[in-house]
Amino acid sequence: MDIKNLIEKNKDYILEMRRYFHMHPELSYEEHETTKKIASELEKMGIEYEIPSEEPKTGVIGVIKGKKPGKTVALRADIDALNVLEKNDVEYKSQNEGKMHACGHDTHISMLLGAAKILSEVKDELCGKVYLIFQPAEEVGTGAKYMIRQGNWYEETDSIYGSHIWSGLEAGKISLEAGDRMAAADMFSIKIHGKSGHGSLPNETVDAVVVGSAVVQALQQLVSRNYSPLDSVTVTIGSFHSGNRFNIIAGEAEMTGTNRYFSREIGARIEEDMNRVIKGVCDAYGATYELDYTYILGPTINDEKSSELAIKALEKFAGPDAHSKMQKTTGGEDFSFYLENKPGCFGFVGCRNEELGADYPHHNERFNVDESVLANGAGMYAQYAIDFLNEN
Ligand code: MN
Repeated sequence: MDIKNLIEKNKDYILEMRRYFHMHPELSYEEHETTKKIASELEKMGIEYEIPSEEPKTGVIGVIKGKKPGKTVALRADIDALNVLEKNDVEYKSQNEGKMHACGHDTHISMLLGAAKILSEVKDELCGKVYLIFQPAEEVGTGAKYMIRQGNWYEETDSIYGSHIWSGLEAGKISLEAGDRMAAADMFSIKIHGKSGHGSLPNETVDAVVVGSAVVQALQQLVSRNYSPLDSVTVTIGSFHSGNRFNIIAGEAEMTGTNRYFSREIGARIEEDMNRVIKGVCDAYGATYELDYTYILGPTINDEKSSELAIKALEKFAGPDAHSKMQKTTGGEDFSFYLENKPGCFGFVGCRNEELGADYPHHNERFNVDESVLANGAGMYAQYAIDFLNEN
């Protein structure tokens, strides 16, 4: 099934949608108007949909049923914007003061709506079912889990595809490689309990500044001496507070930090490893500690089979040069939660074009995209679904 013509046919619709959503950005879990607009577009296409029953009831789950029975594939787009005051001087500038689609999620909505149009035109040739997942609240890292809780779509899904528009990749290229694509992002806080006392009598105290400093040093060696040098792991202590006077030895110290890594094996052991190191250091000095560890996002890892399917799908309608390799990034994505229990692929749709001023980083107040790439981004969603369903 060649969808090239359908991509071309829906180009203007995708562009119109992108600009509409760009003008009307809404923050995480406040996407009420966005939800209404997506629902009304699906309605016009004759596509069944549901809106989450859980508060705040933002996001949309559409479903396209093929004529023949088969497997189930899910396509996901995130829909939230950011607290950024737009500085682009364009006719489709944000109309919601202080809010902006500065990460490009407006393009994600428009590409998935474009794919919905393409797929609804070919649904009689599809074996199985396509879920269209318009997900709220990616920017706060919890929207994917919220969508997984809504109905049975996730349980039913055999494969999931999502993509991010990407300013680091040139317009016209899409990256769909297997393996590590985006990092896990965890957060932690450490409290050291020592014993305060006079600055002149350290022997009567347990100095939390000294113990805390030793903990910071030891945690840096946790990375260099526990994990393979071929794995990327970052342990960052971003804050350290202790003591309040020159001649008082501090009894307490507090630190906060973040860990980034790409492997689930490291994710499964890093908290325990930190506990071991901090405990060892504190024991040596006679201090005690508390470690409060929060897993925010897991790593985004594409499996080989899904990635291969995606690359072949892209080459079908965009030619062999459209796929581009791109280095993995230390940014995080809550798409990682979908990939924890289902195979799938997360792609990057290049949108960088210096001539158009589309070369600012994501979240920048001048972020913009080369809109000519959106049609193929929509095609990618559609072709992935078609190929997964009709080849499995
Ligand atoms: Mn984003």
